[in-house]
Parts: sequence; C-alpha cells; structure tokens
Amino acid sequence: MARCVQRLIGSMIRSVIWFRRDLRLADHEPLLEGCRHGTVLPLFILDPALLFHPETAVARVAFLLESLRVLDQDLRRRGGRLLVRRGDPVTELVAVVKAAAADRVIAHTDSERLVGRWRDAAVNRRLAMEAIPITWIEPAGASDALLGYPAWSRRWHRAMTEAPPAAPTRVAVPSPSECLPDLPIPTLQHLGLPPDRKPLPAAGTEAALLRLESFCTGPASRRYYWELSYPSARVSTGLSPYLKFGVISPRLCLHRLASLAGQERTRQRSAVQLISRLRWGAGMHQRFRYLPQLEQSSLWTPFDVDAVPLAEGAPADGLEAELYAAWRQGRTGFPIVDAAARCLAAEGGWLELNFRSRAIYASFLANLCGIDWRWGALHFMRHLIDGDCPIDHYQWAMQAIRDPSAAMARLPAAMPELFPAALDLDQLDPAHWRALLSWFQPGRRPVDAVPADGSAAAAPPTRRRSARRAGAPGQLSLDLALDLEEGTAGST
Ligand SMILES: Cc1cc2nc3c(=O)[nH]c(=O)nc-3n(C[C@H](O)[C@H](O)[C@H](O)COP(=O)(O)OP(=O)(O)OC[C@H]3O[C@@H](n4cnc5c(N)ncnc54)[C@H](O)[C@@H]3O)c2cc1C
Repeated sequence: MARCVQRLIGSMIRSVIWFRRDLRLADHEPLLEGCRHGTVLPLFILDPALLFHPETAVARVAFLLESLRVLDQDLRRRGGRLLVRRGDPVTELVAVVKAAAADRVIAHTDSERLVGRWRDAAVNRRLAMEAIPITWIEPAGASDALLGYPAWSRRWHRAMTEAPPAAPTRVAVPSPSECLPDLPIPTLQHLGLPPDRKPLPAAGTEAALLRLESFCTGPASRRYYWELSYPSARVSTGLSPYLKFGVISPRLCLHRLASLAGQERTRQRSAVQLISRLRWGAGMHQRFRYLPQLEQSSLWTPFDVDAVPLAEGAPADGLEAELYAAWRQGRTGFPIVDAAARCLAAEGGWLELNFRSRAIYASFLANLCGIDWRWGALHFMRHLIDGDCPIDHYQWAMQAIRDPSAAMARLPAAMPELFPAALDLDQLDPAHWRALLSWFQPGRRPVDAVPADGSAAAAPPTRRRSARRAGAPGQLSLDLALDLEEGTAGST
C-alpha cells in the first residue's frame, strides 16, 4: 500500500479530473489545468442514483457507455487512460484520490437534476473533511451568479467568441497499479439494464464533429433556418446526444459554424438560427442553476394545484389512464401524435423527433388530454437518447398551458399538424373537429376506434399512407409511423 500511495513524480501536482457531462478532450479546462501542472487521473463514476433513476433511458445509458469507451481510446492515444468506477460518487472519488495519492480534484460545474446537486454538496462536504481540495470550473458561458437573461446571454456570446482550447497532445497518467487497476468499462448487462434495441448514434467527439461537418457542407445548412420547424424536414444537426453528454461543447460547434460566415446567405441564416438554439439549450441549463425546482414544478404554480403528485403513481384509472396509455403507445388516432410516439419508443427520437414534433406530441398530452406534464416528461426521459432534464422538463412545462380553454382556442395555430387539411380554423374540415371533439365527450374513450389489443396501431391503416402529401411541410413523415414496430413504452 505504501508503494501504491508513493508519489511517482517528485514535486508535480497530481490531479484527479472528474469527468461528468463533459466527455471530450478539447475545450476541457479541468483537463488542461491538470495537465499544465503535472500528472492527471481522468475518472468517471457511474452513479447508481442516476443509472437507476426512474427517468433513466437504457439507450441513453448505452450511448453513455459507448462515449466512455471512445473517450478512453482518445486518452490512450495521448498516453493516458480513463478510470471508470461504479458506486457512490462520494466514496469512489475519495477512494481514488487516496489510492493515487492525488493532491486535488478538478471538475466542471454542472446544473443537472436535484439528485446531482445533492451529490455535489455531499462531495464538497466529504472532501473538506478529508482536507482534499476540489476546484470547480464553470463551463464556458456559465455563471454561478444570479444574472438576468440579457446579461447572461451577453456573457455566453462573449465566452463563445473565445477560441476553444485544443485537446492536450499528451496526457500523463500514472500506470495501472494494484490500487488503481484498469477495470473494464461495464456493459449494459453488467449494470443489470436490459437493452431496448434502439439504434445508437456513433459515439465520440470525432463522430459529433463529422455530423456538424456534414451539416455545414451539405444541403441542411441551406434549409435549416426556415425548415427546422417542419416535422418531416430532417435538417437539424442531430447533435443533441453529444451535447447532452458534453462529447462536443457548444463553443466547438460555434467555431465550426463561424466558417459559414463567408458563404451564401441561406447558410449564414442557418448558422445564426442554430447558434440561437445552442444558446437556448445553454440558457435552460443556466436557469436550472437558480431554479432547480423546475425539475418538478410547473412554470405557472396554479397548474400544480390539482396535479397528482408523481409519488402517487401514474394515472391509474378511467379515461386518464386510457389516454396516457394511448398517447405513449401511439394509439390516439392522430397520425402525427402516433408517429411521434412510435418514433420515440423505437429510436429514442434524437434524430427524427425535432423540436416541433416533440412540442406537438407534448402539447397533445398536457393540453388536450389534460394530463400532468410530468407524466409526459417522465415518458420522454425514459426513451430519449438525448434526454436532458434541464431542457426536457423546462420544455414540457412550457408546452403545458394552464388553462385548457385557452389551449383549445390556441390549438389550430399552435398545432396545425393535428389538422393536416388546413391551418385556418374557418377552413377546417368539420370532420377533423368532430374527431377531435369526440375525445372530450364524457365516457368516450380515444381507443374506441381501434381494437382493444391495439393491433390496428401495429399496422397503421393504409388510409393514413394515402392521406400523406408528398413532401408536405408540417407533417411528420408517416414512413416513420408505418415502419416502426410497437415500442417498448414504459419498459425502461
Ligand atoms: C417537450 C420537449 C422536450 C424536449 N426535450 C429535450 C431533451 O431532453 N434534450 C434536448 O437536447 N432537447 C430537447 N428538446 C429540444 C429540441 O427538440 C431538441 O434539442 C432537438 O430536437 C435536438 O435535435 P438536434 O440536435 O438535431 O437540434 P438542432 O436544431 O440541430 O439544435 C442543436 C442543439 O441546440 C439545442 N436546442 C435546439 N432546439 C432547442 C430547444 N427548443 N430548446 C433547447 N435547446 C435546443 C440542443 O442542444 C440541440 O442539440 C425538447 C423539446 C420539447 C418540445
């Protein structure tokens, strides 16, 4: 043991770099700071509180594990390696620091869900007790100060203009030893999580950069700025899983997008639009710094008055339970809603379910079915490969409108895709209204139109296929609904 704790390199500082949602080597200040002053020990801890959180999606964990594997390979190419441990982060972190005889811990701050806040507070307390220094570094553009949105936004843009630091060329890491063994990165099976067969995006920073490259050089960046809200457009970048785990940073994205500045106007406008989207995502994380209760609270408190607390279980009986099940399984009879449901369950939604499709799908549950948005957010998080609590829960709370009559009045404008024939209330085919309104007749169930076993949903009627207008904007490609099998709703 004495040998294990012996310092390998005389007066240099040895830092444990605690990787969290920053699984990359470039634009990574904690890693650079550690490398500047000596040897580093890159560490990732698989926290059971998150692995087995009710909102965990198996596919998202699978993508995380793949991302860790690629990070380990990237580190090894530079002479380093990634230490992966599994267990209570407080215990594991202290154990690694002691085993490595490290001088300090460095980590990015994070504004994740409440359980993460509690974890970080516990880490701070325990490290202080053990007299182990920890340096928290804010990710570019983030702040621990309470700032109004305009001030924060200016700060974010300023930070984004600075060049992202490159990955260190060499990462000096102590060799594996008896007390710091090189343990394999676990598989889903090792973790006791049954795979749900969703196809995963290719992992790693290089894969993310390739995605961004094909966006910048391909046709998508000519169309993104005006087509991004069309559910069937497929022009968005697909970067969300990578941004979620910090495999790529928003600043790396912005600097690649800057190259579009000298190009044709359409590409420039798309770059501006995409930058504002990246800022939205970062802004939602920043809000969570001040308002962690957004994880579970509505933006409008009156909305919470009649809500069933999550602890009391899912909508369990009657019409509400039927609606919730039909919504999750894609059996509502509304093509766009059902297509979104099936896309989410079969593929985790990261590529095909763009903002608009998510908003329609979410709004349908919260505003038309009148079901507490938190049940919808729970279902999303159980399936989304890019599921990111600060964005997801905030977006859900925003989509949920407090006053159902206001929701009804806004409906045609807010969700024209529910009415494929027309966008204007006066021009709506009355049949569509009847179909919609029949939902709200007392005792009438939305699933009456399909057999109780849902078999019609597994093989959508050809009527839907023929209703499709080729290339029609505003309608999620029904290929999706036609091709996808019944999903695994709720199985994660
Ligand atoms: C109900 C609902 C739930 C959502 N849940 C999530 C979630 O869990 N994780 C998630 O990353 N996004 C979520 N979004 C936002 C948005 O739909 C996705 O970010 C986007 O579809 C991801 O695809 P992309 O990376 O191809 O997007 P692009 O258009 O290429 O955007 C690039 C990045 O910008 C950010 N971004 C884009 N749109 C938004 C937005 N509206 N709000 C915040 N950030 C945005 C994301 O980081 C995104 O990856 C949700 C939206 C709604 C309506």
